[in-house]
Order: sequence, then C-alpha cells, then structure tokens
Amino acid sequence: MTPETKPIGWICETCGTQYEPSAEPPEACPVCEDERQYVGWGGQRWTTMEALGRKASVHFQEEEGVTTLSLRPAFGIDQRAFLIPDRGRSLMWECLSLVTPEAVAELESRGGVSCMAISHPHFYTSMVEWSDALGGLPIYVHEADRDWVRRPSPRIRFWRGERLELSEDLVLLHLPGHFPGSAGLWWKRGPRSGGSLFPGDALQVVMDRRHVTFMYSYPNAIPLRPSAVRGLHRAVTPLQFDDVFGFTRGRQIIGQGKAAVDQSFARYLAAVTDVESRGAAPQPAAMG
Ligand SMILES: [Zn+2]
Ligand SMILES: [Zn+2]
Repeated sequence: MTPETKPIGWICETCGTQYEPSAEPPEACPVCEDERQYVGWGGQRWTTMEALGRKASVHFQEEEGVTTLSLRPAFGIDQRAFLIPDRGRSLMWECLSLVTPEAVAELESRGGVSCMAISHPHFYTSMVEWSDALGGLPIYVHEADRDWVRRPSPRIRFWRGERLELSEDLVLLHLPGHFPGSAGLWWKRGPRSGGSLFPGDALQVVMDRRHVTFMYSYPNAIPLRPSAVRGLHRAVTPLQFDDVFGFTRGRQIIGQGKAAVDQSFARYLAAVTDVESRGAAPQPAAMG
C-alpha cells in the first residue's frame, strides 16, 4: 500500500469531527454545513491526527475540583473534556480531536478510563480513536443522534430514553433541543457534596457565569424554541446540583447552580415571549 492510498481519519478543521478513514478527504463536512454550524471562512479545510499533533497538545488542568482536558492551542469548537471519578477509574465526559501517546499515558497513570460519554455531535470529534487508544472503551451516545456519527464503530453504545444510570453516582440525561439526542451528565455527589451538572451546550453557561442559555445554534445565534426550553426545564427540575460545568475552560457556575438555572429558564422565556402573550393586559390597538 503506498502512502497516498493509506486511509486517513480526516479531521474537519472548523468543527473538529474525525471521519471514517478514507484515502481522500471527504467532499464536505455535514456537521459544518448544518445550520447550527458554519463552514470556515476560508472554505472547507481538513487536517490529520499527525498534523494536528505537530501544532497542538492535550492539556490537563484542575478546574474547581474536576480534571479537564483541552487542546492548546485551541482547535475546533474549543470544548473541554472532563475526567469524572467512576469506581476507581474515570469516566471521560466529552471528547477532543487530538489523541496523543502522552495524553493516553497520563490517563493511564491517573488510574485509567472506564468509559466515555458525549453530549452531542459537535463534541464527537475523535471519539473512536480515543476509545481505541484507551483499550476499546464503550462510548455512550444518545440514539436520537445516531445519524450524526461520522466514524462508525462497534464501541459506540447508543442509549435510549430519558436517563441512563452509569453508576450509583453518575447519570446520563436526555436533554433534547440543540440536537434531538443532546445529553447531559449529572454527578450526584461530586465534586462537592451538593452535586453537579455537565450539560454540554444543551444548557450553555454564559459569560457572566451566573446564568445559562439555550440556543439551537450558538455560532449563528438561532434561539431554541420555547416548547423545547420548557422540556429542558422539566428534565432538570427533579435534579439536585450546586455546580454547573459548561462546555469550555472556565465556564462554570460554582455554588447555587440549581437556582441559577431556574432563574435562567425564567429569564430566557421572558425574553422570547411577547408581553401580550405573557398574560399582561392587551394594549389597545392603535387609535384611528
Ligand atoms: Zn466540520
Ligand atoms: Zn453544539
């Protein structure tokens, strides 16, 4: 096999998704062509694991009691992944485009990874390559987003329904809206005793770090419809949590997270609902 024909798992430079290996790059990236994303301003560009590894590395960091992984310099959507303690090992929540031998060794030295789970297609990135590098871990992805998987693998376990208990302390939650299969992770008793929520960007922690918001598209600013937002509210209402860990570095609400989320639902619904339909007295029609 010549180097030219060796299949490569091409990675989209804008969204960071890795595709099923092929000799030539895919013709387009459906993740970026979707109205929730965008094609890079310079046109569709592809990279490879090798090329990405020459310019970026996986950075481990402690953030508010949780170990996070992210790429430095930033790449793609610049999300972070989390290591959540899971019966002596760790659950890897979310994923990154770059897999390096150094990062794999670091994970093994920290006790290893038990399984992976990912919130939605924007963060699927190189999930299959990560799973393989860590010994063939199961990857939990919600069934409703099955068609968004760009690199199929028997490692991917499509889960269904509203919740999946991974352990006594860790629960996957179906939080549809941004994507039909958007998911969150509820860590009932950690990193602090009050628990925490990892909502991906089904609920996105905003810059004031005291609220979340709900968008169908974040880069293209398409709000999520109110009925879906009410559905999210119903899904998180039964949960207890103090902290909310958002999609990227530093984006977290520490303390009183449940109240912050409740208030954010009210704020959002007020912002997208006309005064007349909120039940206020209707304004008289213009005279004349
Ligand atoms: Zn893309
Ligand atoms: Zn997203």
